[in-house]
This record gives sequence, structure tokens and C-alpha cells, in this order.
Amino acid sequence: MKRPLGIVLHRGASIFDGSPYVVIMPLSPSGNSKTGKMLQTYIIRSGVNPVAAVQSGRDLAICGSCPLRGLPRFKAKRSRRSKLRACYVNVGQGPNMVYKALRRGRYVDYVPEIHDRYIVGRKIRFGTYGEPVLIPIEMLEKLSSISSGWTGYTHQWANPALQQYRKYFMASVHALAGPDSREHAKHLGWRTFRTTSDGLPAVNEILCPASKEAGRRLTCFQCGLCDAEGRRKIGLEAVDVYIPTHGGRAVMNASRLLPILQN
Ligand code: SF4
Repeated sequence: MKRPLGIVLHRGASIFDGSPYVVIMPLSPSGNSKTGKMLQTYIIRSGVNPVAAVQSGRDLAICGSCPLRGLPRFKAKRSRRSKLRACYVNVGQGPNMVYKALRRGRYVDYVPEIHDRYIVGRKIRFGTYGEPVLIPIEMLEKLSSISSGWTGYTHQWANPALQQYRKYFMASVHALAGPDSREHAKHLGWRTFRTTSDGLPAVNEILCPASKEAGRRLTCFQCGLCDAEGRRKIGLEAVDVYIPTHGGRAVMNASRLLPILQN
């Protein structure tokens, strides 16, 4: 049987606003130079193009309260609204392509007996775009158990109803202390992935080896450190990760201006 272009792992209603969304895993090789050859997963709205969703704020459905979604701002020069957006995902690329393929009916619904052969022994990135707590926990349990490793990051780590995701995902944080900080996440028992503008490590943090500052020594496929309570058995469960703020000019500009990212 021919390998499909990708599979629809899940369809659901957003816990953030009730809108319909899908979780899609393309099965073609990934061109992501940071993650390497991992299977990617996209969490997108079912009926709204991701670019339009970002522009109109309807990305709330799949991003929740992530501070990197940014804030609307008014561009006087062109008399139109734009966004101060610090998310490093370019929605016009991967998410847009995945959405268009979805609308053209290019993905098939996940049937474990048929499609697990494409996942077994592979590494998975949960939430290439979109908040990965929108993947049902039973599905995560299943997919992680047949994979050879995974990475995942959530901004929803403070939500009391979502603490079981601590087993799979790193808490995305942007400050050391105070509300919504690394200190807060550590008290809740999470491993953390911190972006920082000063580029300095805190206690028990290492610099992400895929970062420019670390010389891009490893891809996520090779490193695999961001798997929360994952498969590693070599004492690295106490290690957290930090990375200097990164991205294109617009992302760096937004990172400088968004209050939550000032650390
Ligand atoms: S620490 Fe490793 S797994 Fe985590 S983002 Fe960096 S390279 Fe990827």
C-alpha cells in the first residue's frame, strides 16, 4: 500500500474556545534543519487558514494563552492592523501548506493497524505548530510508546487540569522568577525550556545544542533532551534547557517589545 501524504491523528473542539481543530502528522520527510528527521505534528483550525487565523486572533483556538501569539498593533503608515508576534513559526509556510493539503483532502484519517508502521521507531515532534495539549493524552501515550523518542513544549503548564502532560512536554517559560516563570513551573514539577534575552544559564540549565550560540552542534533528532519524563535513563532528567531569543527581524523586534518576554 502506498504511503499517504499524511494522517489526521485527531479532530476535536478546542479547550480554549470550542472551535474545531485537527492534529495532522505529515509522513513525508521533514525539511526542518533544527529538528532533523523527526515526524512533525501540526495542530491547526479545521476551517480557517492559519495565516488568516493569526491575523484575526482566531489562532486562540490552537495556541491558547501562549504569549508568543503577540498583540495587535496599528500601523499608521499603511493604515492597517498588524501584529507584534514573537512566535518563531512562519504560518505562511508549513502550517499554510498543511492546511491547504487538508482542504484538498490529501490526508487520511489515522487507522492504527494501517498507519502505525510509518510511526514505529521514529522520533516525533509534538506541536511543530499549535499547542500540543490539544493532543489527547491517550493518543500521546500510544504514539510515544511506539516512537523512539519525542520532543514537545507547552505554555499551558500552569493549568491545573493539564498537569498530566508534564510527563511528555517541557514547560515553555520566559522568566526565572515571578508569575509564569521557571521557578513557578519547577514548583509544579515540570522540566523547563526557557527563552532568554540575556543568554545566561540558570542553575541546572544547559544551552540548547541546536542554537546558533552552541554552534548548531546537534539537531533535536540527535539530542532528544526535550522529552520531559521521557526515555532517557542517563540521569539527565534533572536538566533543563535555555536558548537565547531567536528568530527573524520581526520576531526579535516583538520579543524586545512584548512585556512578558522581558527577562
Ligand atoms: S535541547 Fe535538544 S531536543 Fe531540546 S530543542 Fe535543543 S536540540 Fe532540540
